[in-house]
Amino acid sequence: MNLHGKKVAVLGCGRSGVAAAHLAVARGAAQVRIFDSNPEAVCSDDTVEFIAGAGEKEARDFAANLVVISPGIEADKPWALAFTCAGAPIIGEVELAFRYFSGRIIAITGTNGKTTTTALIEHILLQAGRSAKACGNYGYPFSEVVLQKPQPEFAVLEVSSFQLETVQSFRPEVAVWLNFAPDHMDRYTKVSDYYEAKLHIFENMDESQIAIIRVGEKMPSIRPRITEFSACSGSGLLRYDGTCIKQIDTTVADLKGTALVQAHNAENAMAAILACRAVGLNDDEIISSLANFEPPHHRCEFVAEEGGVLWLNDSKSTNLHSTEAAIRSQTRPIILLIGGKDKGLDYTPLLSTMSGKVKLCVVFGQIAEQLERTFSGAHETVRVQTVSEAVHAAAVRASAGDVVLFSPGTSSFDQYRNYAQRGDDFRRAVQENLHL
Ligand code: ADP
Repeated sequence: MNLHGKKVAVLGCGRSGVAAAHLAVARGAAQVRIFDSNPEAVCSDDTVEFIAGAGEKEARDFAANLVVISPGIEADKPWALAFTCAGAPIIGEVELAFRYFSGRIIAITGTNGKTTTTALIEHILLQAGRSAKACGNYGYPFSEVVLQKPQPEFAVLEVSSFQLETVQSFRPEVAVWLNFAPDHMDRYTKVSDYYEAKLHIFENMDESQIAIIRVGEKMPSIRPRITEFSACSGSGLLRYDGTCIKQIDTTVADLKGTALVQAHNAENAMAAILACRAVGLNDDEIISSLANFEPPHHRCEFVAEEGGVLWLNDSKSTNLHSTEAAIRSQTRPIILLIGGKDKGLDYTPLLSTMSGKVKLCVVFGQIAEQLERTFSGAHETVRVQTVSEAVHAAAVRASAGDVVLFSPGTSSFDQYRNYAQRGDDFRRAVQENLHL
């Protein structure tokens, strides 16, 4: 793509917008300007042109030749479309970066496990002495990787459905599809729209490339060669038996004593093993790295064990599917702390997983009332407002042998800036209640 002499409008002034602007400047664009519809938006970088509170007039006046959109903004809504008035195409930041990246790409998508798997693949590649950078939805824009000199051999690219909505020629060498479950119903009108957006990951791949897919995922016919894995089915190339990942009857890796032993993390490990094999690493290089891998925080993370009660922080659980995985992984009676923003999800399907495992639900936040209605017929349920109150309610009811599982099952935006702030607040409240 030749940007020389072109005017590029970047929509959204977050980190990926700023990175896209820098990339467009570095690749010769005549003028690059970042626009944000929020009049109070502040751009973290004052070396780029920036307009806050931009409306249709600013869009028309700029008359862009190319529009690069950040994942938080919907490309088919009037505000974004106003920037295309001079006939400019809209692409996402991932697509822009892809067009200028000369290295190899391993892309990871799925409803849950993307960040953990992305971090694990990067870890394995680095331990094997290869240059690699985890990026994309992971929190480090792909465009920043492209601007590195030299570019790393591998971009390990976490891609969300929002990012995949606006790719066009994007074509990874290896694509990982971890799982799919309903989510983001505050952005999509139908679950099928969310699914279709994710499928773009395979769109431009061909038979020379590899798709790594969990057994049982609903998949249309796709061109890349498929390798399957699953922790709960015997029919993939890799399966899970006790604590061992096996291929036919041979143990590939024993996860005992690693941070990946729970079934959902074992699936992330299987996907990572297959992705690293696909780019040419051998099993010795791969498996030796699993033992010292530390998953990112707020994912079924240990907080405390006091009076025989275990406290776990799974604040990154923002949908039912991840809360299901967290419940399934527990062997102790569970006090489940669940709640947050109303994202339009129905929690009834969680009841079958909770049955026989959850002894008490403490529901909190904007969806507390809905959750109380859903759970209270089958489980003792306590309704509170805040995370602090939820922790207190759990602390006075827990007995030795229980696990208190903070797995909110929805996003945090009703009360927090993000899941990390919510997880930190949970940890603080636990420490306060337990006088640690
Ligand atoms: P993502 O980046 O897709 O949100 P994370 O690795 O950040 O994924 O994990 C998000 C949530 O999903 C956490 O609650 C975590 O415990 C859970 N989780 C991680 N891997 C899986 C998986 N393979 N299947 C189901 N849940 C998972």
